[in-house]
Amino acid sequence: MMFWKLLKKELRMIDIEKYNHNNIFAKVLRKEIPSELVYEDQDVYAFKDINPQAPIHVLIIPKKEFCSLDDFCSKANEKIVLSFMRSIGKVAKILDLKDGYRVISNVGHFGGQEVPHFHIHLLGGKALGKLIG
Ligand code: 5GP
Repeated sequence: MMFWKLLKKELRMIDIEKYNHNNIFAKVLRKEIPSELVYEDQDVYAFKDINPQAPIHVLIIPKKEFCSLDDFCSKANEKIVLSFMRSIGKVAKILDLKDGYRVISNVGHFGGQEVPHFHIHLLGGKALGKLIG
């Protein structure tokens, strides 16, 4: 156990097995740090990414605590999963992304996940090209 903790620290790996209540998005949800709201309902919160990678870059997160896409899909009830998936189209409509957009979810260390609260990136506003350039 001690070995794994040290290894994770050494490799800067995030823990996506046990929810960390101090992660940035938990603070966004608690309004401890500001965010630019795009859409909100009882299950979902969508806000602008602080470091946009496209003209439009929004993060969509569930209000309940899930560490990753994997955690969300295995533990969230069907109503919450459905409402989350439907929120993507609602956000795209709000942002008038008629020409299309891309949805990404990074999972874990190799996936490049930095914030251990499940989120999807919704990117758009220009032709985004290939997935991995
Ligand atoms: P990940 O790498 O975990 O998939 O994505 C985390 C995203 O959160 C990054 O795109 C990063 O720019 C964004 N981010 C990190 N800190 C903040 C913050 O305090 N506010 C907002 N709005 N976005 C943040």
